[in-house]
Amino acid sequence: MNAPLPAEVLKQHVIDPEICIRCNTCEETCPIDAITHDANNYVVDPDICNGCMACVPPCPTGAIDNWRLVARAEAHSVHDQLGWEELPQEQAPPVAAGAEAAVAEPAAPQPAAAAPGAAVPPWSAAHPYVNLYTHKTPMTATVVGNYRVTGTDTDSDIHHIVLDFGELPFPVLEGQSIGILPPGLDAQGRPHHARQYSLASPRDGERAGYNNLSLTVKRVTEDHAGAAAHGVCSNYLCDLVKNDKVQVIGPFGHTFLMPNHPGANLIMICTGTGSAPMRAMTERCRRRIESGENGKLMLFFGARTERELPYFGPLMKLPPDFIDINLALSREAGQPKRYVQDLIRDRAAKVLELLADRNTCIYVCGLKGMETGVLDALRDVTVQSGQDWSILHDALRREGRLHFETY
Ligand code: FAD
Repeated sequence: MNAPLPAEVLKQHVIDPEICIRCNTCEETCPIDAITHDANNYVVDPDICNGCMACVPPCPTGAIDNWRLVARAEAHSVHDQLGWEELPQEQAPPVAAGAEAAVAEPAAPQPAAAAPGAAVPPWSAAHPYVNLYTHKTPMTATVVGNYRVTGTDTDSDIHHIVLDFGELPFPVLEGQSIGILPPGLDAQGRPHHARQYSLASPRDGERAGYNNLSLTVKRVTEDHAGAAAHGVCSNYLCDLVKNDKVQVIGPFGHTFLMPNHPGANLIMICTGTGSAPMRAMTERCRRRIESGENGKLMLFFGARTERELPYFGPLMKLPPDFIDINLALSREAGQPKRYVQDLIRDRAAKVLELLADRNTCIYVCGLKGMETGVLDALRDVTVQSGQDWSILHDALRREGRLHFETY
């Protein structure tokens, strides 16, 4: 059995800078603000971290799950960690006077009090592979397709990009993401860090049986505040042409995964490029439509106008008895403003019917700001039916049935 550590010895929580993809998930998840970052690294403050493990399950790469035994007085400072290019070597455990230092296991992962979604996948999800290719060992993919999927008369320039992996293994599941390493250097003269993109294709490829996958990438021309900005990676990707080579790392993600058992229902709620994982899951189901394995599919999809909805044309061709599509348009001429949360309330009866079935999983993907609105809408429909939302919300998280991916 592991003995407790002597007070002078710290099992210091550190983040591997070579694996970390700077997605900010850990910093957002930490309930006590122990994680911070600069342009180089994400780091854990040893004076604040209490080893609660809330940040560990949500990390898509596992970079967060690193620990170093150090003498407490010699803990790696935040300043030192911000300068790391790689983790320091493991040292022999410091031995405290009169005691033999033993390795204590970190606490069991605790969901952060504020985490809206589950830290575990649905029980029947397939096993995901992660980190097969890293910053140090990226793989090279070839662009085999790149075209715009939003109206050319709109400001929203979203591309469908297909990458082929040739003979190299790149096993993925719907809901996972990959990292793209854009060429060139950042303002500090370092190689750009990877940007994450959700898969838009199912596990068996954009074209079934081919070793390829697709992404849905929005060209970033403004920052979140609306000021002009030139997004490094999104512009690089949207400008790629057929046969260009791209450096890829990943795959990432081990919780935002679809259930695999027959009869599982999906409620998918998304805006903009948040449609990527929903397209992947929907296409997975569409390809096995004849098998009779599919449960019910319900989609809430928000955009400003129809012309800004990626994949609008193919989506509307799907049979209504296969997927229940609800489009929320916030700036369509001559129509009242509608957001996904409005439609969830409008469709309360169907949403409640699905929520009552433990075979139902809910996926939310898109803009960060949609989390609160969606949770409020789910709470409202539940409360109006006389149920206790906090009990249902806890069950959905515990059972891996409610998943968020917002950025
Ligand atoms: P940067 O050069 O990093 O940033 C330029 C400026 O734009 C900065 O001021 C930055 O704050 C701001 N900015 C960054 N991102 C956005 C944004 N999305 N909207 C407006 N302003 C922004 N993006 C997709 O297009 N499709 C996806 O499927 C997708 N999946 C993601 C999945 C995960 C898990 C995460 C964490 C992110 C995902 N993203 C996706 C976002 C993507 O990783 C990049 O952040 C985005 O493409 C911007 O990168 P950039 O290099 O172009 O911009």
